[in-house]
Amino acid sequence: MRKRYYGIILAIVVLFVVFYSLRQVGDSRTFQFFGEIIPRVDTPKKVVALTFDDGPTSCCTEKILGILGNTNVKATFFVTGRELEQNPAEGQRIVAAGHELGNHSYSHARMFFVSPSFVAEEIESTDRQIRAAGYSGEIHFRPPYGKKLFVLPYYLARTNRKTITWDIEPESHPDIAKDSNKISEHILTNVRPGSIVLLHVMYESRRESLKAVQKTIGNLRSQGYEFVTVSELLANRNQT
Ligand SMILES: [Zn+2]
Repeated sequence: MRKRYYGIILAIVVLFVVFYSLRQVGDSRTFQFFGEIIPRVDTPKKVVALTFDDGPTSCCTEKILGILGNTNVKATFFVTGRELEQNPAEGQRIVAAGHELGNHSYSHARMFFVSPSFVAEEIESTDRQIRAAGYSGEIHFRPPYGKKLFVLPYYLARTNRKTITWDIEPESHPDIAKDSNKISEHILTNVRPGSIVLLHVMYESRRESLKAVQKTIGNLRSQGYEFVTVSELLANRNQT
């Protein structure tokens, strides 16, 4: 009886450890089981990629495009297929302004335990929307919430798509996220050549992030940084 009791406890502990480890791996910005995952690139050049997740939305696309246009910065927008379908004109405007579009899934679901057909539909339908918006460059993928486990990376690897994460995420710290000055300060402190910065500016609730963009651009420029799209950043890999 006692033996059985210990067996059950042990099984629960093992399950817990396995589940916990898988979660850690699934959340990692720098590791996945298949294909390439890129949180930044190794380069001595002072280049940095600003990336904006979610959208496009009718409330905020014009605002961020205005800031980027005034400062002459090209950025990368990881958009969802659903929002692009709802706001096609905003998507076209992003492309027309010379920015890069990336695939952030169709429905923004957590792609942790998902079927191959679900993954394929999420990715392919969003790529179709991105092409319909007029973007002709290579389309990179960024998982919603940064989550992936087996099926998603396997599909991406098999279809030669790169997973792009980030090495700077000011909004993940609640006390920083609510203050635009702290956001730009955090980016300035943590940036290094080849960094990829993640920000969300497509919703009204992210006003502080939007406000931080202009200041961030000024800060980094004064440090000698040049702004590039993710594809341009990847072209800098391993160049010495
Ligand atoms: Zn997202």
